[in-house]
Amino acid sequence: MDVTTARERLKDMLAELDRSIGVLKGDPVAVREYSAADAGSDLTDADRAQAMLTVATAQRRAVVEAIERIDEGVYGRCVDCGKPVPEGRLEARPEAARCVQCQGKRERRR
Ligand SMILES: [Zn+2]
Repeated sequence: MDVTTARERLKDMLAELDRSIGVLKGDPVAVREYSAADAGSDLTDADRAQAMLTVATAQRRAVVEAIERIDEGVYGRCVDCGKPVPEGRLEARPEAARCVQCQGKRERRR
């Protein structure tokens, strides 16, 4: 994926996330339509909105950082080991900052 395409996709994602975050902050009840998938859990709407806001905010940061890496000319390289992030991974997740191995290590540490 070339950086022009990556930048466009990241900008789209950013706009989408900003919209979601705006909704989540402004109207927690509207969250129901976003979270139909996990209906049945006993979280309140406010808890669910908060959880989704946390996820959306973290993803927004990842997208912003990916755009910064494009600007710095280091996009597509793993921020931990410096090896190229596989094309397929970037296609699926243009905001990915790490190769699969480094991401795996990071997630196991949590
Ligand atoms: Zn790596």
